Amino acid sequence: MPEVIAYLDNAASTPLCPEAVEAMAPLHRELYANPTGAHRMARDTRRRIDDARDVMADALGSSPGEIVFTGGGTEGDNLAVVGRHLQAGGAPVCSAVEHHAVLAPVEQLGGRVAAVDASGVIDLDALRVALDDDVTVVSVMLANNETGMIQPLAAVAEVVRSAAPRAVLHTDAVQAFPWLDVASVAECADLISVSAHKFGGPKGVGALVVRSGVELAPVLLGGGQERGLRSGTHNAAGIVGMAAAAEVVKKTRTEQVERLAGLRDRLVDGVLAAVDGTTETGVRAGKVAGSAHLCFAGIESEALLFLLEDAGVYASAASSCSSGAQDPSHVLAAMGYDRVLAGGSLRLSLGYETTEADIDRALAVIPDAVARLRAYGHG
Ligand code: PLP
Repeated sequence: MPEVIAYLDNAASTPLCPEAVEAMAPLHRELYANPTGAHRMARDTRRRIDDARDVMADALGSSPGEIVFTGGGTEGDNLAVVGRHLQAGGAPVCSAVEHHAVLAPVEQLGGRVAAVDASGVIDLDALRVALDDDVTVVSVMLANNETGMIQPLAAVAEVVRSAAPRAVLHTDAVQAFPWLDVASVAECADLISVSAHKFGGPKGVGALVVRSGVELAPVLLGGGQERGLRSGTHNAAGIVGMAAAAEVVKKTRTEQVERLAGLRDRLVDGVLAAVDGTTETGVRAGKVAGSAHLCFAGIESEALLFLLEDAGVYASAASSCSSGAQDPSHVLAAMGYDRVLAGGSLRLSLGYETTEADIDRALAVIPDAVARLRAYGHG
């Protein structure tokens, strides 16, 4: 393994920030009680969770009573779509570029999928056509996990309010949270899901905003925690770690967005200049700052990722399924990319620990790796 690693896979997961590590430690060592208990340690643990709830509410533009702690982004997305369907019946609708945590439940519940344009932005006319009185939940993500493209949520909300009066609007803000002020851009949403490990927090914990008055049924039944919407003993350390990471994001977001957009632009411009036959997907101005996504003609992602890893650059392709094999990307297919070009995709996602040196390394390695694959005919 090369000694120096350029980790450019922050959209998959981020390193735990020191503030989260520090905030979590006492919950493992001294405050390990079940927070629903009656004794002092339980009450103290509960207090930490309540403080974390205040922080997450502030970060997401809700009241503390509207926060439901979840086991991560997948669970929050499922609770929004399935929970709404269980409560209100009817059909769910989503965009064609949603994460599988939304797409799979929508499809399984017999829902409808609205098309996107060539840059990956939802087609509002197609959305309007998919809506009617039967639709009870519409799910449109804030930022896409493959391309980084940001969706026009306020315009989506207007279409939903006028064409599907029974529907609530859910947004998967999992990829947006490190980059956008979710409290303001998702103000129009009734349900908002986030996941801690995408912004310097621990894995397996997240939050779903459920605005007051929004009727949702639980998917997990049991002890009735989180207002009955998410049974199960609280992941107290995870919740506290998530809030600590959210506070860091709040303090540093503006400066990190500026710094990382600059690094991302240097990376993408450098690769575009050095490698013929490269397509930048989407529209850069419409993407979150840390996201770079390219397609190289004449190569296969899997082989490219192998060469990059060997040279100390960790990245990913369009999307990876649980087996680790590369699936054809439903996002690129929805944007109209043919299978062959989509098969040569590369996602480079920057995060708060990304440095100039990481970008230098990527720029030193990628053009050569693509050239080698093309020379060997790995098309
Ligand atoms: N939604 C989006 C947009 C994502 O990128 C991811 C993770 O890749 C998820 C949902 C799932 O989140 P989690 O890994 O916390 O289950």
